[in-house]
Amino acid sequence: MEREGRRIYIFDTTLRDGEQSPGVSLNVQEKLEIARQLARLKVDVIEAGFPIASPGDFEAVKAIAQEIEGPVIAALARINEKDIDRAWEAVKYAARPRLHVFIATSDIHMKHKLRMTREEVLAAVQRGVSYAKQHCQDVEFSPEDASRSDPDFLCQVLEVAIAAGATVINIPDTVGYATPPEFGRLIALIRQRVKGIENVTLSVHCHNDLGLAVANSLAAIENGANQVECAVNGIGERAGNTALEEIVMALFTRYDYYRCKTGIVTEEIYRTSRLVSSLTGMPVQYNKAIVGKNAFAHESGIHQDGVLKERTTYEIMNPAMIGLVQSNIVLGKHSGRHALRTRLAELGFNLTEAELEKAFQRFKELADRKKEITDRDLEAIVEHEIRQIPEKYVLQHLHISTGTHVIPTATVGLKVGEQVWEEAACGEGPVDATFKAIDKITRLPLALKSYSLNAVTGGKDAVGEVTVQVEYEGRHFIGRGISTDVLEASARAYINAINKLVYDVGEENLHYLDEVNNANARPGVAK
Ligand SMILES: [Zn+2]
Repeated sequence: MEREGRRIYIFDTTLRDGEQSPGVSLNVQEKLEIARQLARLKVDVIEAGFPIASPGDFEAVKAIAQEIEGPVIAALARINEKDIDRAWEAVKYAARPRLHVFIATSDIHMKHKLRMTREEVLAAVQRGVSYAKQHCQDVEFSPEDASRSDPDFLCQVLEVAIAAGATVINIPDTVGYATPPEFGRLIALIRQRVKGIENVTLSVHCHNDLGLAVANSLAAIENGANQVECAVNGIGERAGNTALEEIVMALFTRYDYYRCKTGIVTEEIYRTSRLVSSLTGMPVQYNKAIVGKNAFAHESGIHQDGVLKERTTYEIMNPAMIGLVQSNIVLGKHSGRHALRTRLAELGFNLTEAELEKAFQRFKELADRKKEITDRDLEAIVEHEIRQIPEKYVLQHLHISTGTHVIPTATVGLKVGEQVWEEAACGEGPVDATFKAIDKITRLPLALKSYSLNAVTGGKDAVGEVTVQVEYEGRHFIGRGISTDVLEASARAYINAINKLVYDVGEENLHYLDEVNNANARPGVAK
């Protein structure tokens, strides 16, 4: 159904602000994977990164600009020539590139952070936007901490940016301080006062420190904003950004009120949420709006009865709208390649022959141990087994001896090339022992920063999904593993993190320990 009404542009910053979430670090492959999904979701703009921040960010922006078709690809830069050059160097390959430049305009930021006067900031905006414009037709300008800036000065800055060629003006509530009526009034004021504002896109970027990011964004839309910056699952600095799925579904579900539309393919929302959660290692809270595990679950008998009689009694959205489809097909040990391929295609995974073969092997292993393979199990297989980076280490075998009055001992065999290396180690628990045995083989100086275990689906034979984060020379790597055996899942997750590390850092740059001291218990190790 084609809706009338004002078009709201969805600017996704999952790969920039979202990737700045504490503890999150994505490699180029993972960022590309998310960018491909964002293109399927049909976001209008992908902010791919902040190229000056690190070589990894630069490479990711460049790779996304080169490959992803459809959305505008934006790169972030502070408003100075060096940052802008670096951002342009990475994003120039895109069919529709955008440079996003920013400088703070609140007194508190100008005084303490920038140590610049208002006049100096105005001059920097004029210079910076003009400079960016020499490279790129599409220039977005953000006055950082806009919601705490003096409104008169803010309007002055925006006029300068527009006169210098900005095509998009983005108003950030950088610290998540604004309230909806206040933020709405600020947007109305800007529309009223700033010369030339009617000729540019007016955008907002809200943070969720008070849980108001979505509400503030909606208030801005009501007052004339037509671009919203947001991130999948609401991830981002501190409490995160406006959640993409929430703003999109609020506009969709309350079309009767807002009379606005987006270009988002809402049926891709659930899959995008799963993908981002899985790659960032950031779980989605159960009661999270739209994409939480409980978002469409009815517990009370009265509600269940109502929904069974007529769905709309207690459901304001159809779960199918976000791509949450329940299937009647039950896959198990006797299912063949064809059934697997069919179900995976229904779930949106289109695999090559080689990928399908690999998925099928893992499916068979799992089906031997688990009666019914659910959609979530299949998603986990594809997420963990198919999106692969070259594997230096492959788990060959794992034997663990543990109990209440014995010292946990693990024997691990890892295949490296054609050889199998085997080591045994004791630990404070079976997971600790397993990781130590792996360390003895790899001899890499690793610190385990976090370990989490989740059941992918219910039941006693549920598949366990382990996510670990390891630190190597100040850099963090996330690994994941699945199995019906949580110890095996732990080993797979740890090896996955190590393989990513080897791939990212490059084998020639690795530093090894002479030997791993088994008695030397590492802090923070899961027991
Ligand atoms: Zn932000």
